[in-house]
Amino acid sequence: MRADQISDDITEVLITEEQIQDKLAELAEQVARDYEGENLLLVGVLKGAVMVMADFARHLPLHIQMDWMAVSSYGTGTRSSGVVQIRKDLDTDLHGRHVLIVEDIIDSGLTLSWLLENFASRGAESIEVLALLRKPDAMKVEVDCRYVGFDIPNEFVIGYGLDYAEKYRNLRDVAVLAPHVYS
Ligand code: 5GP
Ligand code: MG
Ligand code: MG
Repeated sequence: MRADQISDDITEVLITEEQIQDKLAELAEQVARDYEGENLLLVGVLKGAVMVMADFARHLPLHIQMDWMAVSSYGTGTRSSGVVQIRKDLDTDLHGRHVLIVEDIIDSGLTLSWLLENFASRGAESIEVLALLRKPDAMKVEVDCRYVGFDIPNEFVIGYGLDYAEKYRNLRDVAVLAPHVYS
């Protein structure tokens, strides 16, 4: 869906569909250079990263493999605690693999730092992260994210895979959710 079809539910479009595609193409060029000649495994974190993975992977001029992981992180209120449970594990053996984790957004970074440790313990040769969006709070824990699309303000955003109560994932752009929707 397009932003004008849910204009009552959002306060502004933060990043347009075109801006997202341009950025993913640019990141894909960078990744293609960095992994030239390597056998790269892209790992998408469900469900938010579905759109990023689909578009980013198609921009990539490399042979890649794709796998998916689903995790839930428990916390109080809106903050994740870093206590992560695997809901769907990888099908791929990570031993000796070059892994690029594909994420929608890094907020506290707690989920991601757990994933990085978990993947390292499985013997991956290298692990890097690509995130379409990053919030300023991400600076609070040490997460090394090599490829970042956009740094955004500390507001709750939806669209392009990101949900509120499982809604809005199919919005084409990234937008700020209007407060009346969740209050
Ligand atoms: P953290 O980095 O805090 O461990 O958790 C990141 C996860 O929280 C993301 O994968 C996403 O599911 C959710 N999240 C964080 N910020 C936002 C936001 O602004 N909008 C939405 N829809 N989800 C968010
Ligand atoms: Mg995510
Ligand atoms: Mg969510």
